Amino acid sequence: MGLLDGKIALIFGVANKNSIGWGIAKALHREGATIALSYAIDKLERRVKPLGESIGCELFVRADVTNADEMDAVFAAVEERYGKLDVLAHSVAFAERDALGGRFVEMRREALLSAIDVSAVSLIELTRRAEPLMKDGGSVMSLTYNASRKVIPNYNAMAIAKAALEAITMYLAADMGRSKIRVNAISAGAIKTLSAGGIQGFRDLLKYAEVTSPMNELVSQDDVGDLALFLASDLSRRITGEVIYVDAGYNIMGYTDVEALLGERA
Ligand code: NAP
Repeated sequence: MGLLDGKIALIFGVANKNSIGWGIAKALHREGATIALSYAIDKLERRVKPLGESIGCELFVRADVTNADEMDAVFAAVEERYGKLDVLAHSVAFAERDALGGRFVEMRREALLSAIDVSAVSLIELTRRAEPLMKDGGSVMSLTYNASRKVIPNYNAMAIAKAALEAITMYLAADMGRSKIRVNAISAGAIKTLSAGGIQGFRDLLKYAEVTSPMNELVSQDDVGDLALFLASDLSRRITGEVIYVDAGYNIMGYTDVEALLGERA
């Protein structure tokens, strides 16, 4: 018996096998969930379909999360095929390259607004469409990063988008509670993926996170997948509106003596 037997999960944001969304898809499938995938652009179908099919996924729908008609079509397809939804995972983010580096104060307004729209406002749009399908309650989750709460150089527009996403998580949780729909955000440590590659200096950030986190480790897509599994299952039945970290403890540190640590390792 799996923790998610009989559950239907819809995941937005699988671009390839390195995507955090793929780590989530694998973990939920492992415990018995049926997975439906939505991907952003036509050319992704070639990569996403074989991945999905390897875990028995039968429903693939392309949608841009800023396009109302395309989002409607995804939820209509889920309703037609399964008649319900139990889990919604939002693993989507976008910012233009020039908004992921340089002086924060000089950020272009349009670039900031588009990052917030795609990466945060879309969670409201998706949750509103999921609610009527979550007839027996459900779990909504999204992916955030600690740059929302501490300054991490170059995250600029994405940091602001994540701060919005975390606030949206609380407000959605308050709205959805009566329908027994829980809404939480997973704050993942830095992981090498397609999107992360767009952030200037990301390689150095990875090295720093590994050395300074209490566990001296980086986080993997599978680590995030296991937390997503907990949030998708009844094990987290009274948890809503939270930001939960899976980052080997990185966020708790105020100061680490990097020189001493490197010396210890040498
Ligand atoms: P990823 O594999 O590149 O996934 C991001 C996904 O968002 C891609 O599938 C991308 O599709 C999709 N997307 C972008 N714009 C979209 C739009 N308008 N409509 C629909 N989908 C769109 O990177 P990832 O690192 O796994 O990111 C997943 C989530 O984890 C994001 O919210 C990210 O901020 C968060 N996160 C990442 C890290 C990290 O270090 N990697 C840490 C904490 C949180 P395209 O490829 O077609 O653009």
